[in-house]
Amino acid sequence: MPAHKHIERRIKGIPASHGISIGKAVVLRTEAFVSSVEHIEPEEIPNEISRFYAALESSAAELQHIIEIAEKEAIHVAPILETYLLILTDQTAADSIKRRIQQGYYSAEIAVVQEFDAQKQFFKLAKDPILRERAVELDHVKDRLLDGLRNRSITHSVAAKSIVVSPSITPTDLMMFNKAGALAFITEVGGIASHASILARSLSIPAVIGVRDAAQLIHNEDTLILDGNAGLIICNPKPETLAKYEKRKIDEEENRRKLGKLATAKAETHDGHSIHLLANIDSLEDVEAARTAGADGVGLVRSEYLIIQRQHFPTEEEQYEWYKQIAERMYPHPVTIRAFDVGSDKYAEGMPHEDNPALGIRGIRFLLHRKDIFKTQIKAVLRASQHRNIRLMLPMIATTEELQQSLDLISRCKRQLRKSDTPFDDTMPVGIMIETPAAAIMAIDFANLADFFSIGTNDLTQYTLASDRTNEFVAHIFDPFHPAVLRLMKIAIEAAKARNIPVGICGEMAGHSAATELLIGLGVDELSVTPPLLLELKKRIRKADYLKSQILAAVAVRSESSNEVRKIIAKERKR
Ligand code: PEP
Ligand code: MG
Repeated sequence: MPAHKHIERRIKGIPASHGISIGKAVVLRTEAFVSSVEHIEPEEIPNEISRFYAALESSAAELQHIIEIAEKEAIHVAPILETYLLILTDQTAADSIKRRIQQGYYSAEIAVVQEFDAQKQFFKLAKDPILRERAVELDHVKDRLLDGLRNRSITHSVAAKSIVVSPSITPTDLMMFNKAGALAFITEVGGIASHASILARSLSIPAVIGVRDAAQLIHNEDTLILDGNAGLIICNPKPETLAKYEKRKIDEEENRRKLGKLATAKAETHDGHSIHLLANIDSLEDVEAARTAGADGVGLVRSEYLIIQRQHFPTEEEQYEWYKQIAERMYPHPVTIRAFDVGSDKYAEGMPHEDNPALGIRGIRFLLHRKDIFKTQIKAVLRASQHRNIRLMLPMIATTEELQQSLDLISRCKRQLRKSDTPFDDTMPVGIMIETPAAAIMAIDFANLADFFSIGTNDLTQYTLASDRTNEFVAHIFDPFHPAVLRLMKIAIEAAKARNIPVGICGEMAGHSAATELLIGLGVDELSVTPPLLLELKKRIRKADYLKSQILAAVAVRSESSNEVRKIIAKERKR
């Protein structure tokens, strides 16, 4: 038996599709890239052109097929894929590639790269961020075509219950492996937005991608544990490791069975009004819990937990890694990263002493006071936004200047990243927490600048009722059901509707068992709660009636006290 059989090895990749699989490796060898030659002989031109058109046709057919699956499975990526298809089937580009082969004697691969790089250069210089974004899309399409030009003759057949290891994988291969009973797959290349990854998720086949040299590192018949949640492969695991993962796999299956239909059921009222059900997370484990419970995304990442855990401000690299992992694990669902909400009460490094930290330099005030720290965080978030599923949220906003200054800083960071050719999502939404009465009252002015609102009922209650959220002596005054808080929320929600931006709630009130109908009735689009509350909340949403909730909210907002609000809710529940 070869020596490597005895050694447990851990290999990291990108988590592309969730779930744990345990099985034997089947390593597929695809032929090397067809062409590393730049120029071809004149007599090879016709063959090279037909190779290009064959690749174009198969890539387009594959893409079309995946779009159909994405539409059927209601996966949110269908519009992106349609854009790819438009680029791929653009006649002018195809003509130009053909000319490059005919007139420049270039191989099909080189002609494709040249054409797409030339187009990319043009879009990269565009002033319009949407056009600049196109440069990223061109890269995706170029890769698809190059994939198509690879000779993909597979030299091994796939056995049932095997884990497929391959340099790359096409959606067609994936379908074939799935039919043959393969459990999971590992690739050396690819992105989480690639068609194979999309398909793997929709077919619930666990997958880890981007594992460099996987086909060399892993051997046929190796026992593999593939953890698609963490993007981890364990090669030839020790018996203890195997037992641990077998248990984890059983627990995961058991959990899924217990959650039953509710995890996959839609979060909508029984009269069909849907709510985005999101999770508040502080750690990577929370992401798993959120996914298992079927969250539609993450409504709040309290990024200051990174500081609290480490006891120092994390570097750009440390932050980037963490944000990227959250975004990848949650993909394609959106992830809302809140900029550090720290003050001298939570973290003292370089801060002046304050007698009253809750009213002092915290949240956005701290970030604008320490622009070095803010800029590092903005860059880390932007870099992690490549897959276009990240939103950035600003805490404790009270003045429009704070928001404007933050937006200017974000633009500056984008310029710097662009200069170093670092990819990011130029259209990353930037929203604000509505958690000061000032932000709620002036919500319409903020809605002109922000891409979304999230109401922080914890602080909004504290500041509206002048009642310290941590002081037990005023706990009886601290009440998010107070009509003053509800009226401020209503102003913010109406402003968001008037400007057509989404508005959610990420404070504790979102998960309060008495608040569901009230919040739905007020018109929020999103509710974000800690993962253990997700399913309970979904159950309540599914029981609610949107029309009745609207009437309830209208009456509650006009009430004179929290007690009256609670009575109205209780009465409605009894009916
Ligand atoms: C809030 O204030 O409601 C909120 C969600 O933020 P935090 O609890 O982190 O202050
Ligand atoms: Mg807050």
